[in-house]
Amino acid sequence: MRADGDVWDIVTGVGLTALGVATFRAIESAHTEPLIHDDYAELFVRAAGEGHFIDMLTNPPKLDDIPLVPGFMGLRTKFFDDFFLSAASDGARQAVILAAGLDARAHRLDWPAGTVVFEIDRPEILEFKDRVLRDNAAVPRADRRTVAVDLRDDWPAALTAAGMDPAAPTAWSAEGLLPYLPGAAQDALFGSIDGLSAPGSHLAVESAPTGAASSCFATLESKYFDKNPFGAIDPTDLFYRDARSDPEQWLPAHGWPVRVASSTDLAAAYGVTLPDLPDELEQEWDRPRYLAATRMSD
Ligand code: SAM
Repeated sequence: MRADGDVWDIVTGVGLTALGVATFRAIESAHTEPLIHDDYAELFVRAAGEGHFIDMLTNPPKLDDIPLVPGFMGLRTKFFDDFFLSAASDGARQAVILAAGLDARAHRLDWPAGTVVFEIDRPEILEFKDRVLRDNAAVPRADRRTVAVDLRDDWPAALTAAGMDPAAPTAWSAEGLLPYLPGAAQDALFGSIDGLSAPGSHLAVESAPTGAASSCFATLESKYFDKNPFGAIDPTDLFYRDARSDPEQWLPAHGWPVRVASSTDLAAAYGVTLPDLPDELEQEWDRPRYLAATRMSD
């Protein structure tokens, strides 16, 4: 399903996954007791005009009346929100959001004065995002700089050209990204992050130990939910399935001690009660690993 140099916009291919997760954030934000607040997510979903996701805003996919998928996105979003705020309080004044998609952290989070937030994604995604933000007169809460580049290409050159300073501590995130990269590009990504990170830099990653060999998302979802959360696409069809290093092993071996949490760990930490799930759904729910690592001195 994937090919070297393939492209997408916000309503096709990999772009639809960005729209999907924005939809889940919008639904979670509208919950009576939301774990996160993302007022921009719904603006993006409505502006993209994709019927399935607009319909989901009012009719989310449910399991026994529980909006499980938006709940999962709430945990994930809060993990990365807390990570960035903690890195900022530790002194990081630049953040790099890899594969930013419709992530609105530059507009949502309370960044310390002087923080620069770099958002990397493909040009078509960032153009759509900028248009919606402009149309809504959205004002970022940091010095937001977009870096339109493919993460399979020479993104470090584009990032440093945009003003990222490798000598200063950085907070990096790779959320909802790794399986969409070929193995070689993922391995190069971690090597480049390491090379561009001053001691005291921080990195948060969503990973999955079984990598791309996960079960077919659409089959599982259609078995348990009244509708497929991603509509016509199955995100797992867009995964690269080649071999790559496991960041949970690679990071500590390269001077980045790592803390690891599962979705269940996050739910416990955030006081979220999980429903009783069928085994195969529970396995899928608990497959992602949330890594937080800090670059030690050389
Ligand atoms: N991190 C965002 C979030 O959690 O809301 C977006 C996640 S979305 C599932 C995947 C994102 O990865 C999309 O925005 C897509 O454009 C981006 N992406 C995937 N492969 C990419 C590549 N080779 N170069 C640049 N961006 C890429």
